[in-house]
Amino acid sequence: MLICIDPGHGGKDPGTIGRSMTPEIYEKQIALSAGLILGGFLNHYGFDVCMTRSEDKYRWLVNRVRFANKRHADIFISVHVDGVESSLPHGFCSYYYPESTHGKMVADTIMERLRDQRYDLHGEGSKPKHERNFVLKYTRMTAILLELGFVSNSQDLKNLMDPIFLSDMIIEIAETIKHFPGR
Ligand SMILES: [Zn+2]
Repeated sequence: MLICIDPGHGGKDPGTIGRSMTPEIYEKQIALSAGLILGGFLNHYGFDVCMTRSEDKYRWLVNRVRFANKRHADIFISVHVDGVESSLPHGFCSYYYPESTHGKMVADTIMERLRDQRYDLHGEGSKPKHERNFVLKYTRMTAILLELGFVSNSQDLKNLMDPIFLSDMIIEIAETIKHFPGR
């Protein structure tokens, strides 16, 4: 089984910005660290892994989609962190494409596992991402998008920048994927 990991943003596109630390933290940094950790664990569990980017490089969304489709990946996991004006929202959330029942199942299972492990969640369950979300819409395999936390929230940002916190959380996500049957 081939899993395509898509660390969001990169290069000239920093993504959302965490301003409660000096220097500021960019979403693209956390997405890449988390993506590489996730890829490492999944590889260790015996999955084939491909990455849409493994360095700080800008990639068009269409190229990320084409990359995953061409390789016939079985699951596509886009890795992001959230950021909003207010510093209040916090917690992890997983998203799926509105019409994808398998995507919803994977996204839900990850949320449930993280809840069981007492991770802070943003809302009750996984959510459908807007149907215009490009990578979820055009990838032909089961696709989910993870928002690991809010860089606009200082506690979330602190957690996400803590390598132990981050890898502990990613292990739970990798464990969920490990127990999931194919498509
Ligand atoms: Zn993002």
